[in-house]
Amino acid sequence: MANTSEVLKKWGLWLEAWVVPPVCVHCAKRRWGGLPLCRPCLRLLRAALIWDDEVLSQPGLHALFRMSPPLLSLIHGFKYSHYRRHIRFLCAYLRYRPAFVEALGKPDVLIPVPLHSARLRERGYNQAELIAEEMGRRYVLPVMSNALKRIRFTSTQTKLDAEERTRNLVGAFRCSDAVAGKKVVLVDDVCTTGSTLGQCQQELIKAGAARVDAFVLGWVEREDSINRR
Ligand SMILES: [Zn+2]
Repeated sequence: MANTSEVLKKWGLWLEAWVVPPVCVHCAKRRWGGLPLCRPCLRLLRAALIWDDEVLSQPGLHALFRMSPPLLSLIHGFKYSHYRRHIRFLCAYLRYRPAFVEALGKPDVLIPVPLHSARLRERGYNQAELIAEEMGRRYVLPVMSNALKRIRFTSTQTKLDAEERTRNLVGAFRCSDAVAGKKVVLVDDVCTTGSTLGQCQQELIKAGAARVDAFVLGWVEREDSINRR
């Protein structure tokens, strides 16, 4: 009987794939295979890859992609719809940056930008931590998730400009001296104005970190993002 239920399950999956075919998370057109994007959207994502961090004009900031519509759909997927597999899919593009560890200044440790505990409970995971873990696996670097904490809940920053964001974040983070003397790479999903990374960087330096670089998956190119860190 167990075999019958296995067969039924297989048929069910096959039927589901035909009745509800997998669609691209960005344009909702039919896609094939296990990737979240269709071919044209994959091409758009690939075109947004950053090959050289010089283009960011922000010393110490490193990014894998320029922000693009398919990337935004993937990021929304892991931020708001629990599609954690998108993180692994995007981090796999790190294979195009084999010398990244050197570019990052041969860090001692990766530190994810923390979520406030209330938001962590609501979401169930910190996307920045999952990105840091993917990077840690790829480059054999430890991830330190408890040194930097978000001690104040801040409202969503999406509608604030750079100055308001910085004001909104003052006193939001605290760092333990576990980072003293260490070369740190801060990890986050997106850099929009650099306010969050800048505040975290200040706390890490205050706690004695020897060097702080930052890595994000998506970089939003904006006039006011330049020289913000
Ligand atoms: Zn598509």
